Amino acid sequence: MDLFEYQGKQYFARYGIPVSAGGTADTVDEAVAQAGAAGYPVVIKAQVQVGGRGKAGGVKLAHDADEARLHAARILGLDIKGHVVKRVWVEHASDIAKEYYASFTLDRSAKDHLGMLSAQGGVEIEEVAATDPGAIARIHVDPVEGLSAQAARAWVEEANLDAEAVDGAVDILQKLYRCYVEGDADLVEINPLILTPEGHVHALDAKVTLDDSAAFRHPEWDAYRGLEVLDPRDALAREKGLQYVGLDGTVGIIANGAGLAMSTVDVVSQVGGTPANFLDIGGGANADVMASALEVIDSDDKVRAILINIFGGITRGEEVANGIVEALGRVELKAPIVIRLDGTNAEQGRAILAPLESDRLVSRPTMLDAARAAVELAAAATESPPSTAPPSATGATNQGGA
Ligand code: GDP
Ligand code: MN
Repeated sequence: MDLFEYQGKQYFARYGIPVSAGGTADTVDEAVAQAGAAGYPVVIKAQVQVGGRGKAGGVKLAHDADEARLHAARILGLDIKGHVVKRVWVEHASDIAKEYYASFTLDRSAKDHLGMLSAQGGVEIEEVAATDPGAIARIHVDPVEGLSAQAARAWVEEANLDAEAVDGAVDILQKLYRCYVEGDADLVEINPLILTPEGHVHALDAKVTLDDSAAFRHPEWDAYRGLEVLDPRDALAREKGLQYVGLDGTVGIIANGAGLAMSTVDVVSQVGGTPANFLDIGGGANADVMASALEVIDSDDKVRAILINIFGGITRGEEVANGIVEALGRVELKAPIVIRLDGTNAEQGRAILAPLESDRLVSRPTMLDAARAAVELAAAATESPPSTAPPSATGATNQGGA
C-alpha cells in the first residue's frame, strides 16, 4: 500500500525524522487557513501518488494569503499524470542549501536491505542512475545486524554529502532504517532530503510503501485504507477476495494454485503473449469463485482472451467444469476463453464443457497448446476490434459489435 506524502511524513515523524509542520486541506479556504497556521512562506503541495509533482505545477510557494489562495485554487482539481488532486498538504516553507536523496528498499536478489544515498537529490533517482550512476552510494544492510552509526557515517561520506550535513544525515538515516524495518515498509524514500542554510538536515518529501503482508500487526493502517488509490481491477479483486495481481498484457489468466498461476504467466510469455494478470483461485474452483474471477479479468479493457488453466487435485474436474458453465451463465464476457483442464476427473470435466465449445470457448489438452491458442485469439482480437458477444452457457454465438 502506497501512502500519500502527508501520511508518509506522519509515519516518518513517529520515528523522529524531522519534517516540516503543516496540515492537509481539501478546499481553498481550508488551505488558506492551514497556511496561516503553518506561518508564511508556505509550500502548497498536491497529494497524489505519482512523482514529479513539482514539474507538473503541483508544488507552489506562497508568501501571503492571496498567493496561497491562488495556488490552492490552481492545484486542487489539477490533473497530474492522470491523478486528479483532491487534497493538498500545506507546510511552512524551508530554505534549501542542498538537496539530497535517501531511500531503503528490499534487494531481493541480494537477500538484503538496500540503502541508496546521493548528493544529487530533488531530481528523479532513475535520472541520476542513468546520467551519473557513480553519484549514488549503495549500502547493503544485513537485517540481523542493522545499520550502525559507524556504517551510516561511512556511507554518508562515500555519498559525498556536505560536511555540515554529515551528523544530521547519519541520525536521519538510522531513523529511516528503523522506520523501514519496524514500520514494515517495502520502500521509504526521501527526495529531497535537504540541508538548510542553518545546517539542519530535514525531510522535504516522503514516499512510503507499506508491506501489505504485515498489515495484520498494524491495525493503525486501517486509517489509510479508505483513502487508498487502487487500480480498479485490484479494488474489484480485493472486494471478491481473490489473489490477483494486475499486469499490462492482453491475455487474462485464471489458474488454481499460485505455482500453476505463475507457470501460466510464464508460458503465455514464452509463446509470445503478454499476461494481463496473475490470478490464483486456490482450491475451490466453484461457480462463485469462477464467476468472480472472470468478472475481474473481463473488467480489464486490455484483455483480449482469457486462459483458464486448472489442474484438478482435491478439486475434481467435473466440479470445475460445472463451475465454469454456471459462471458463464452469470457473467457476460467480452473476451473469448481457452480452457485447459487436467488432473482428477478431467475427462468428465471436458465432457461437460464439450457441448459449449465454439470459437469463443475453446478447450485444449495441454498448458502449452492452451497458451498458444489464447495468445493467437488475443492477437487476432487486437487486430480486429473486440467482440462483445459472451460465450454464454446456452451456447449463443457471436453477435458482433464493438
Ligand atoms: P515531487 O516533485 O513530487 O517529488 O515533490 P517534492 O516534494 O519533492 O517537491 C519538488 C521540489 O519543490 C523540491 O525538490 C524542491 O525543490 C521544491 N520544494 C518543495 N518544498 C519546498 C520548500 O519548503 N522550500 C523550497 N524552497 N522549495 C521546496
Ligand atoms: Mn520529491
